[in-house]
Amino acid sequence: MDAKPTWKFSDLIADPDVEERWEKVRRYFFLRESTYDMTRHCNIRCNGCYFYEGEKQHARENANPEDWRRLMQAEKARGITFVVLAGAEPSLVPDLCRICYDEIPLGCIATNGLKRIPDDVGYRIHISVWGNDETSLNTRNAKNMLSRQLENYAGDPRAVFVYTFTRHNIDQAEAVVRKLADHNAKLTFNMFSAPVGYRGNLRHTPLSLADTQRTMIDLLENFPDTVLFSWYSAMAHTHEKGLHDLFGCSYPRRNNSTDVGLGRSFRQYRTDLTWDRAAACCVPDTDCADCRHYAAASAVVTARLFRHAVDPNTFRSWLDFVDTYLAVWVKGYVKGRNLCDETVCPPGAELTAN
Ligand code: SF4
Ligand code: SF4
Repeated sequence: MDAKPTWKFSDLIADPDVEERWEKVRRYFFLRESTYDMTRHCNIRCNGCYFYEGEKQHARENANPEDWRRLMQAEKARGITFVVLAGAEPSLVPDLCRICYDEIPLGCIATNGLKRIPDDVGYRIHISVWGNDETSLNTRNAKNMLSRQLENYAGDPRAVFVYTFTRHNIDQAEAVVRKLADHNAKLTFNMFSAPVGYRGNLRHTPLSLADTQRTMIDLLENFPDTVLFSWYSAMAHTHEKGLHDLFGCSYPRRNNSTDVGLGRSFRQYRTDLTWDRAAACCVPDTDCADCRHYAAASAVVTARLFRHAVDPNTFRSWLDFVDTYLAVWVKGYVKGRNLCDETVCPPGAELTAN
């Protein structure tokens, strides 16, 4: 039997396109994230919302601007360069978002998009879409959601729409993407990841994972100017194994190391401005075995450079993933064309969906 070739890093970046992409993405390795629950309030109630699980929803709400400013200054001092403002609904507290932006200007806000965040909060804005308007009405109790989101954010360079695939909305994605393409909007994909103890009907099955992977790739191929994604992103998000089993989650909740990376620097602040290392990850109270969340993948896969520097296609796939992640999360970063247009198996795992 032939021995597998051993690739040196210089061989992996010998192709000028690959070297250029490597140089482009590694300029962002300085990003160090933490996440912040801005308020306990939301203007809708979604089936499967992980914010309204566990203890964090009961934390006291601190809306004191000076306390937030001090927190952001302390975060900057300990090396945080990227903030994610999230749960419940940050658009309800725009003044606090503005204070965060004044102190740490790189970051992203996760919103349902029903209330426009003022222009002077210059973060990336992720607008959650869970299917067509009929499905949104059923699962999120909100009418005409996509039209209202587009009224607020069409043409806004901050905006990226995030389509969350559940097992029931896979066939609705094309119409949603088409509508967003008509408005020159950008979109990426997320996977419904069940909260701990979830008993609803949105959880994926092996069949729905395979269907989702095919749909993601079709949409990526058919709407290249709209969809921010890669073939490897599709594989990593729809594998039968969740992210932790595939790559080993690096967030403190699953990682005891306090020496390097996310285990050292990441914190997830609750609305009372405290944090708990044992619960800290970007999607707290999500069931790790079912975690395929795009925010989690962005950090967990990106952190596994060495595991992907094993052969040209695996490395290209990883570069596509990181290029996608930066385009989704960093305002102004422009995604390049994907370097690998085929399904590459995550190193150490089996192909499960196709
Ligand atoms: S919009 Fe977001 S925070 Fe509000 S209920 Fe839905 S998932 Fe939860
Ligand atoms: S839910 Fe996801 S991101 Fe959070 S600790 Fe578990 S695997 Fe990691």
